[in-house]
Amino acid sequence: MSNVSHHLDEATIMRYAAGDLDEAFTVIVAAHIAMCDQCRQAVHDAEQLAGGLLDVAETEAVSDDAFANLMAAIDEKPELASNVHPFPKRNKISGDVPFPLQRLIGSELDQIQWKKVAPGISKHAIDLGGDSSSSLFMLNIAEGHAVPEHGHGGMEMTLILSGSYTDRYGQFAKGDIADLDEHEEHQPIVDAGAPCICIVATEKPTKFKGIVERLLQPIIGI
Ligand SMILES: [Zn+2]
Repeated sequence: MSNVSHHLDEATIMRYAAGDLDEAFTVIVAAHIAMCDQCRQAVHDAEQLAGGLLDVAETEAVSDDAFANLMAAIDEKPELASNVHPFPKRNKISGDVPFPLQRLIGSELDQIQWKKVAPGISKHAIDLGGDSSSSLFMLNIAEGHAVPEHGHGGMEMTLILSGSYTDRYGQFAKGDIADLDEHEEHQPIVDAGAPCICIVATEKPTKFKGIVERLLQPIIGI
């Protein structure tokens, strides 16, 4: 299953290997690497690098920022650090949902309960527990429809599970990930032939930011 043509950003791979990503993003990255040989290898390499830093730390004092950040991330979220290792392996062939997502949404895409949110667009929210600062949800978008704006100016990632869409970065099909930073604009349109089912991680917007953006929009034209 390596027809993947859109991959994780290098910075994302390093953050994942260091256990520094928020839960929604950790889930999406794990699902992508279950479907992508290239990124799985990159995560493996990054983990070896992180392991090497740990070895160095045992014999001499290291004051490098990267190492400090890594340690801080592991201190804060030890459960994420321990989550790093289970996934560098191939997707199990059971159902059409990548293995790391199955505990959250089951193993079959056609068993998902969708809620219609707009013409041609349905959503399935995934509860990560109360205090997560990121959101995880699925979208099911009919052919020819635009993928709705769902980011709020923060980091977002979209992993395609079925069907495909096209935007100015090309076509995104099963296994492809759109790992965008907040400054990248795109307007994906679902390709003809089938709905596009994707899973999206976003940073939760702060109310303050949302209000400011709404107030400024008519003034500065963003
Ligand atoms: Zn990849």
